[in-house]
Parts: sequence; C-alpha cells; structure tokens
Amino acid sequence: MNDSLRELYEEVILDHNRNPRNYNHTPENANHTAHGDNPLCGDRYSVKLTVKDGRIDDAGFEGSGCAISKASASLMLESVKGKSLEEVEHLFNSVHRHLTDHKANEESDDELGKLKVLGGVKEFPMRVKCAILPWHILNAAINETDQMVSTEQQ
Ligand code: ZN
Repeated sequence: MNDSLRELYEEVILDHNRNPRNYNHTPENANHTAHGDNPLCGDRYSVKLTVKDGRIDDAGFEGSGCAISKASASLMLESVKGKSLEEVEHLFNSVHRHLTDHKANEESDDELGKLKVLGGVKEFPMRVKCAILPWHILNAAINETDQMVSTEQQ
C-alpha cells in the first residue's frame, strides 16, 4: 500500500467509525434481515434491508465491534443503497477478492471506488475477517438464509 492510500485508509476508517452511516437505522418495511459475528474480535452486527423491485431501497445496521468492522459496514451500506441485487452480488465478489487475494491488482478494482480503502486490512491479516463480516451478513440477508453467520463457520 502506498502512502497516499494508507492515509486515505486511516482517514476513511476513522471517519466511518466515528460517524457510521445508516447505523441504528431501521429501514421502513424492512423485509430482509441477518445477523453475524466474528468471535475472534467480538464484532457482532445485524443488517436490515428493504428490497423493492429487485433493488436495495433502504438499509441499516446495528451492533458493535471494532473500528474496521463498523467502518466496513458503514461504507458497505452507503455503497449498496439503490443498487440492484445483481449489482450487489457482483460488488460482494469484488470486495471479497480485493480483501483476500493478494495478487488482486489494485488498478483493476476501479469499480470499488471508496471501498478500495478496505484493502488496507490486507496488511493486518487478523483484520480481514472484521472487514469482510458485514459483507457476509449482507449476503445472508439478501439470500434470506435466516441464520447467524460467523467468520468461524465457513
Ligand atoms: Zn473486528
């Protein structure tokens, strides 16, 4: 990670941790919900979605955890609101690759936009699970697997 990306990483994570978007927000007519935890860190969240006409109309999350997990959830919901479920699935796959594949080319991940900063966790392997947890919960909510998802059960 170069210096400017590192600075951006710290700035964005701090900002979204201090002032999480869509946090403790319950979407009106929420019709998709899932919960999940990362026992290694103590991150535990619920995600609620209002899906209408195949699109995420509104979204919110609650729970608690470390700065990385909270910032990741905040950034995630900010970027998936208004997107179609197909677009969100595509984004989930891109983020997953971006966070876990060390060979992933940062330049080729332009579609990630601001989410790119999450790739900063690759330098801290323990933190990857914190960053990816909200995305697994989102995926479970969309697929209506009415189960608790955990980073330790995959
Ligand atoms: Zn964490």
